[in-house]
Amino acid sequence: MLDKEVIVIGAGLAGISAALTLQSAGCRVHVIEASDRAGGRMASDQIDGFILDRGFQLINAKYPELQRLGVIEALDFQVAERAVDVSLHEEVVVIGDPRSHLFAGISHKTGSLGSKIGFLNYLLSSASKSANVADELSSLGPLYEKVLRPFLSGVFLTDPSNVGAVPGKEIIRSFIKGRPGVPARGVGQLPSQLAARISQITFNRSVDSLAEFTNTPVIVATDVTTAAQLLDMPRVPRLAASTTWYHEVPSSMTHSARLRIDGLHRGPVVNSIAISHLASGYAPQGRTLLSSTSIEFASESEIRRHLSMMWSCSSSDWSLIAKYEIPKSLPIFGVESHQVTSAKVRDGVYVAGDYRSAPSQNGALLAGRLAAEELLLNQGI
Ligand SMILES: Cc1cc2nc3c(=O)[nH]c(=O)nc-3n(C[C@H](O)[C@H](O)[C@H](O)COP(=O)(O)OP(=O)(O)OC[C@H]3O[C@@H](n4cnc5c(N)ncnc54)[C@H](O)[C@@H]3O)c2cc1C
Repeated sequence: MLDKEVIVIGAGLAGISAALTLQSAGCRVHVIEASDRAGGRMASDQIDGFILDRGFQLINAKYPELQRLGVIEALDFQVAERAVDVSLHEEVVVIGDPRSHLFAGISHKTGSLGSKIGFLNYLLSSASKSANVADELSSLGPLYEKVLRPFLSGVFLTDPSNVGAVPGKEIIRSFIKGRPGVPARGVGQLPSQLAARISQITFNRSVDSLAEFTNTPVIVATDVTTAAQLLDMPRVPRLAASTTWYHEVPSSMTHSARLRIDGLHRGPVVNSIAISHLASGYAPQGRTLLSSTSIEFASESEIRRHLSMMWSCSSSDWSLIAKYEIPKSLPIFGVESHQVTSAKVRDGVYVAGDYRSAPSQNGALLAGRLAAEELLLNQGI
């Protein structure tokens, strides 16, 4: 081990990845985290035998940064089907991987065959720097309005018209090629597994100034608003908010473990899934946990009303287990170009976080690794 100490502020995925990169290069790393656990926006709670992720999210096992870290094998990873249920009036159409859902893939109810070929062409072409995602996809008509728009609103946590075509297409491609799923005991298992590899983390300590670290290199891997305050950053990206609602529902309500979206936009919910059908440990035996996410303000009765339509059943016997409001869920990567810039802010001070690369777990891990590699290079380590 080298005698060189580096401070990493924040133990979200970006901070964890930075710390692991520095550690492998032989540095002494000290991670300082404001909360009582590692993982930042990836966290899971246990309430009354249910596992509740703080905001519904899936992990893509094929993310290159996760593969580099070799962590999926340690997670008891529950793979989700690469298909979604699209709710349309009283019927549900399955759309997704054509190898398993061929007939749905050619169903006219979710768009013509021509529009599905148009979507494949979209995936193969390069994105326009001056367009947003909706500009490039809305010509696909019903395929966009009934499937892609509701699905992507749940991915970006904002309407696709707010997302630049270039960053948007990158995310869409990674989803299409992905292997989504969740760890059997909640998404918080991912950062826990990784953080266990870090030799020194101090929890419950919030850094409010970098003045105490003048002689030690620092990587600021906090959320963007805290980083802006610590580093006097002039610009901060817009942030998307979301709310995830957890209801216990009758087990007979559905046997599907697929994500459900509303092809008719009848309310505030962007997606809903019987998460305990995907990973049975999310609910006590014999019980079913529904996870539903909304991106606009709504009361629980509006959420239930919409979910009743999406699931074609009454919600009167459901019970609300918990609700997580996450005002700073994801950075919105708009049309204005996101040039990848140096992570160095000034001598000895570097910055990392998903807002610097892509609004995803992979984006956060990549930003952390790149900041650490730049620091190592500049320090001659
Ligand atoms: C609802 C939701 C759904 C998502 N869905 C997906 C998905 O399906 N797929 C996907 O790939 N990604 C998804 N994401 C995105 C992904 O979770 C994030 O991009 C990633 O976790 C961000 O990591 P980060 O390290 O950049 O930031 P954060 O996780 O925000 O970590 C920052 C850390 O810094 C700490 N901190 C802040 N201030 C201080 C301070 N002053 N001193 C010390 N520590 C401090 C915080 O406590 C936190 O631990 C989703 C996110 C949300 C919220």
